[in-house]
Amino acid sequence: MKIIMLGAPGAGKGTQAKMIADKYHVPHISTGDIFRANIKNGTELGMEAKKYMDQGLLVPDELTVKILLDRVGQDDCKEGYVLDGFPRTIPQAEVLDKALANLGESIDYAIDVDVPDENIVERMSGRRACVSCGATYHLKHVPPKKEGICDKCGNELLLRDDDKPDTVLNRLKVYHDQTQPLIQFYGNKGVLKTVDGTQAMEDVFRSIIAILEN
Ligand code: ADP
Ligand code: AMP
Repeated sequence: MKIIMLGAPGAGKGTQAKMIADKYHVPHISTGDIFRANIKNGTELGMEAKKYMDQGLLVPDELTVKILLDRVGQDDCKEGYVLDGFPRTIPQAEVLDKALANLGESIDYAIDVDVPDENIVERMSGRRACVSCGATYHLKHVPPKKEGICDKCGNELLLRDDDKPDTVLNRLKVYHDQTQPLIQFYGNKGVLKTVDGTQAMEDVFRSIIAILEN
């Protein structure tokens, strides 16, 4: 089962991707998480990616495609995966398509988590992420049991630098310009499914299960 999560930044892709990965025992692959881990570890890739991420811009395709193809080539991806935050441009989608076609494979579902722009800033300014395990919370919708502390590992929760309102507006613009065209791209391939991302998390998940188990 190879799934792509589409949707604006903050739409709930990561939240749903984790739930899908847990239920169907496939890896959750987030290019954003891979970049953030590299930034934390001070790698060259991390330093390069940070220049773009801090401004709400996309990391160049060459760099992003390489790390993604390396990751999906690993053994744990043989039975499938959920991609969260990749592809974000048509060229990225084309490279992925070609790499899969060479293996006689293709994407099974591209799930668009649809949330209007008006809700996005609220989603992202309330998001808090664990500095250690990457678990995400929302101050209002998914609060941790103890303020500022991760329920799962007890480490500190922080607002991501790129979730501050100015950067969020840039990211939304980048989404509309560069990523939204993927909805038509996957629509043309007949694998696009749209879910209403403004529903409660569990209801969004129920809609996704209904699609996957149809
Ligand atoms: P993305 O991966 O698309 O950037 P996230 O999954 O990190 O988005 O979700 C963004 C924020 O919105 C997080 O704080 C998350 O807890 C919250 N969130 C996710 N899904 C919902 C939902 N259905 N209703 C309300 N808040 C949500
Ligand atoms: P995310 O965690 O998915 O919100 O991604 C955070 C940031 O990482 C984005 O705003 C981009 O700067 C960068 N990023 C993540 N995935 C990609 C991608 N597929 N292509 C380009 N940049 C990406």
